[in-house]
Amino acid sequence: MEVDNGAAVGSDGVLDFSRLNLNTFTVDSVSDENKKDANQLFLNNNRLCALPTSVTDFSNLQLLDISNNRLSAIGEDFTRLAKLRTLIAKNNHLNEFSLPKDFGSMHLEVLNFSGNRFEEIPLQCTKLRRLQSLSLGGNRLKSIPAEIENLTSLELLYLGGNFISAIPAEVANLSHLSYLVLCDNRIQSVPPQLTRLHSLRSLSLHNNLLTYLPREILSLVHLQELSLRGNPLVVRFVKELVYDPPSLLELAGRTIKSRNVPYSPPDMPSHLLKYLDLASKCPNPKCAGVYFDSCVRHIKFVDFCGKYRLPLMHYLCSPECTTSPCSSNPQSDAESEDENSVPADRLQKVLLG
Ligand SMILES: [Zn+2]
Repeated sequence: MEVDNGAAVGSDGVLDFSRLNLNTFTVDSVSDENKKDANQLFLNNNRLCALPTSVTDFSNLQLLDISNNRLSAIGEDFTRLAKLRTLIAKNNHLNEFSLPKDFGSMHLEVLNFSGNRFEEIPLQCTKLRRLQSLSLGGNRLKSIPAEIENLTSLELLYLGGNFISAIPAEVANLSHLSYLVLCDNRIQSVPPQLTRLHSLRSLSLHNNLLTYLPREILSLVHLQELSLRGNPLVVRFVKELVYDPPSLLELAGRTIKSRNVPYSPPDMPSHLLKYLDLASKCPNPKCAGVYFDSCVRHIKFVDFCGKYRLPLMHYLCSPECTTSPCSSNPQSDAESEDENSVPADRLQKVLLG
């Protein structure tokens, strides 16, 4: 079909060649003036196997939609579209080898490669420092590169429907991120660093392999949406408790700290003083104990913003700590009521590490 069946540039600068069954796109029928006036070009829902280099004749293009074609590559000339801010290329045959070498030098703000064949996020994409929205849903991604942290303007990251197994801590450096979509992947844990995402309003984690969340997630006070359905959470948690007792050093340290035995620098070598400083207080409100290296991983259900009952990770001082508290702390029994309402078999414990 010839392109002159398509529309001319409207007063709004929109040139629409979508849904015309085009196998090729020749720009000869578009006047030079129209090419210059066009700021949005729609070539979506055609049968294009290749993007003609003549697309770069539209020198003022700000938005290009080439979704729902059969494209397997975007040519090197593409980077000449210096004013392009939005590229929508959903549902094509693109992969990490399809992009121009200098793609990262473009000034894109919105990039949508959902429904393609990417197995990795191309490093060129992590160089788009003005990018505010990146969508790579429904691809074949297995991981998120640490370089994602370079996308310092990013507000939306959509990576749902891939094979991602881990969230790198570097994601936490995306300080403007408001929407993080990681649903329908194979993620087993959430790094506690994510709580640095102070702008985060929506976190989508449904249909993954999560067994717990880090308790730090409670500090995401601006979070308005959190989806967790379709995760095993504690259901598939390890049932056997293997007890690896604390060392004599740790036992001595625990006694000194929990009994408030006074000590000062002349009493002991500096490495022992440093060791004593590393004591963590047991989070069990009924326990006044401390721990160093030997602790028990424990899942506790906590209300989150009154909307969810989240299984959160705690580290307790000993395997006895939950069932028969190490010692009494009369100050707070409030939290423990929570615990009693959860069936005992769902409060599984395993040793850390
Ligand atoms: Zn304890």
